Amino acid sequence: MVEAYREISSHFRKELAELHEEGASINYCYQCATCSGICPVFRYNPKYNPRKLIEGMLTGRKEEMVKDPNIWLCTVCHNCTEVCPQGVRVSELLTVLRNLATKAGNFPDHLKAEVKVLVETGLVNAPSKATISRRAKMGLPELKTADPAEIKALLEHLGFIELMAKGEKKEEKKEESSGGGQQ
Ligand code: SF4
Ligand code: SF4
Repeated sequence: MVEAYREISSHFRKELAELHEEGASINYCYQCATCSGICPVFRYNPKYNPRKLIEGMLTGRKEEMVKDPNIWLCTVCHNCTEVCPQGVRVSELLTVLRNLATKAGNFPDHLKAEVKVLVETGLVNAPSKATISRRAKMGLPELKTADPAEIKALLEHLGFIELMAKGEKKEEKKEESSGGGQQ
């Protein structure tokens, strides 16, 4: 059955305006899709459409959007924000959306794995032993990394480690209630 109408709420727009200093710019969007036209992700994956994401935020579909795995496809290149004729801070609003998704315990597993590597090694993509040995044979200098202890302290200070753990607990509960945790 075709949906006849969708309820529109301004609550999410107001929340975005409170969470970001230029969040209220979303109110100027007139759905021209210039942002989608310049988006490198949309070019290869039409499931990721910044115009539609802005529309979802404008119409108040917060609950649905913080669960949408597509929101994590943005590369934060800021092309959309640069070209928007209305001055909507598209990429920044999408970052606010991902922050809300993280707070709701929806931080994706593949990014959790990257954060764990970052905290352990100081690099998001730690080189393999083979790469390190090849670099040495080629006379390349040792790769410099940030101090993992400092990264961990920063993430703890920001409450990010706790948020990741919250997401993991939520997943465990989901598995238990669906019987997935039983042998
Ligand atoms: S380019 Fe700006 S005005 Fe056009 S759809 Fe995207 S956010 Fe809205
Ligand atoms: S910041 Fe994200 S939404 Fe905007 S153009 Fe880049 S990938 Fe697309």
